[in-house]
Amino acid sequence: GRSLLQTDPEVHAAIGRELGRQRDTLEMIASENFAPLAVMQAQGSVLTNKYAEGYAGRRYYGGCEHVDEIETLAIDRLKALFGAEYANVQPHSGAQANAAAMAALLEPGDTILGLDLAHGGHLTHGMKLNFSGRLYNVAAYHVRAEDHRVDMEEVERLARERRPKLIVAGWSAYPRHLDFAAFRRIADEVGAYLMVDMAHFAGLVAAGLHPSPVPHAHVVTSTTHKTLGGPRGGVILAERSLAKKLNNSVFPGQQGGPLEHVIAGKAVAFKLAAEPEFRERQERTLQGAKILADRFLRETGIGVLTGGTDVHLVLADLRESELDGKQAEDRLHEVGITVNRNAVPFDPRPPMISSGLRFGTPALAARGFGPDDFAEVADIAALALRPDASAADLDKLSARVADLTARHPLYPELTA
Ligand code: PLP
Repeated sequence: GRSLLQTDPEVHAAIGRELGRQRDTLEMIASENFAPLAVMQAQGSVLTNKYAEGYAGRRYYGGCEHVDEIETLAIDRLKALFGAEYANVQPHSGAQANAAAMAALLEPGDTILGLDLAHGGHLTHGMKLNFSGRLYNVAAYHVRAEDHRVDMEEVERLARERRPKLIVAGWSAYPRHLDFAAFRRIADEVGAYLMVDMAHFAGLVAAGLHPSPVPHAHVVTSTTHKTLGGPRGGVILAERSLAKKLNNSVFPGQQGGPLEHVIAGKAVAFKLAAEPEFRERQERTLQGAKILADRFLRETGIGVLTGGTDVHLVLADLRESELDGKQAEDRLHEVGITVNRNAVPFDPRPPMISSGLRFGTPALAARGFGPDDFAEVADIAALALRPDASAADLDKLSARVADLTARHPLYPELTA
């Protein structure tokens, strides 16, 4: 058949430009990563052609013998990686994993208790326009104003007052470990399920560099494309007793045919995540985030929420800076660093402007960045965020970014 280039030169060219962008800039969006070539090969395979509604050995379509083998490999590897009794690898995304897990455990109108979006929670933890906020009655906990740590006293008080049927622990923008045992104790006290959404930190857990939620939670959900470094997608882990409910909730509850090409990519990623190189990369991810936080703390006008980080991200606080979140994001974009602005808790600026930046190190660690490189990245970012930086200063910083990207080639095998 005809190649992509022959069939659709416009899309082909845009993909080529995106490869160039990924190669030539410093990707520091905390939820992003670079999937290994092997994962992308699995995702770009003939598996995209196959319908396989149901589960391995119990499909509603013929010809599933090979996808059964692949999906079973993915499940077995995922269970082994996290020491879980049950795994479902079919959710198309993190949001769908959460929707399925909640639908399995709750009825519409039941109460959920999750971290407020403005304080680092995710849309699917109860935001009002999201399915979670529309279907369920939402109570939200927060971080404390004085140290920006999750307020476990508030969690306990809200749990007693609101009697949630599900407590969600997990975050999209929070730089510290959560106390899973404390969450479970509170859940048990009020008769709630505990669901941990480890989308952001799953790769750190897999590497043994972050406490595991699996022994504490009734259900653990995750994405597979953030620190875990696999294809875009979701997964659910749980105690064996919830297997049937969760399986039925994913299919036929939320989804039709599973994306077997993505599931193959997940299987490859779970294999890689069990190897020593993966742990070494997650160590560099953590080192990089600490180096960044330390450098920002030495720069006037840049605060660091919670005073540092235990994970792969740093939340820069620009409430004291002349630069707002939007200007800071644009400044970094100008020198070739991609981040996203983020409201900080108790942000005085409006959400579209905001006073925070979220920096993540997983993608650069995947490119091979080590401590010296991260020190250089941190210096470039800190200097770019000086309110008085001139156009000439920014040009010099762009050149330093170009040196770094040249030192760590990305996808050298690909020609675009
Ligand atoms: N859960 C958390 C904590 C997240 O940060 C995200 C994505 O940012 C999701 C779920 C949703 O994942 P997806 O974008 O794959 O739907």
